[in-house]
Amino acid sequence: MENKAYIALGSNMGDRFGYLTQAIILLESHENIAVENTSSIYETDPVGFTDQDQFLNMAIQVRTSLGPVELLDTCLEIELKLGRKREIKWGPRTLDLDILLFSHENIETEKLTIPHPRMSERAFVILPLLEMDPNLTLPNMKEPLKNCLLSIPDREGVRIWKQKNGEDVFALIES
Ligand code: ATP
Ligand code: CA
Ligand code: CA
Repeated sequence: MENKAYIALGSNMGDRFGYLTQAIILLESHENIAVENTSSIYETDPVGFTDQDQFLNMAIQVRTSLGPVELLDTCLEIELKLGRKREIKWGPRTLDLDILLFSHENIETEKLTIPHPRMSERAFVILPLLEMDPNLTLPNMKEPLKNCLLSIPDREGVRIWKQKNGEDVFALIES
């Protein structure tokens, strides 16, 4: 499986932890996707539309033989399967799956933008990513991603909720 991608997961409705773990299990069960690494889970104050419950956020690293659009379609299908409805922009959701990075590609179409256009302003995306790869760089940026944290105001709104223990991808789910 030749492509490496990072996906952000978020949930702020119902069984938030259950939705995150179900999403990982569904991604892993796809024959063209292997989940290689997971971050800790963070609890996050909502941004954008702030009158809603707190989020659980995390990121995962996958290998895939799918192309970027096929991976997006798979993510959108999993969101639907887990009860995602789009009512309010940036509103409450059972599950959100955003593709952050896909190999070193820059993509800009109506349906898909990679790197995810708002990722470098979001502490709840950057912190879990840096946990998996502290020296990560974005294909369209000269500086390493960690430098973005210095200029981000919402860092305090992001707290560790479930620390990842051990190297096993599924340690997070099983513990
Ligand atoms: P944000 O994108 O600011 O995090 P959101 O996740 O709430 O907001 P959604 O309603 O989940 O937004 O997504 C709207 C559309 O964004 C999707 O249907 C998809 O076509 C498009 N999209 C563009 N780039 C990406 C990406 N990198 N990952 C996921 N969806 C993307
Ligand atoms: Ca999102
Ligand atoms: Ca999304």
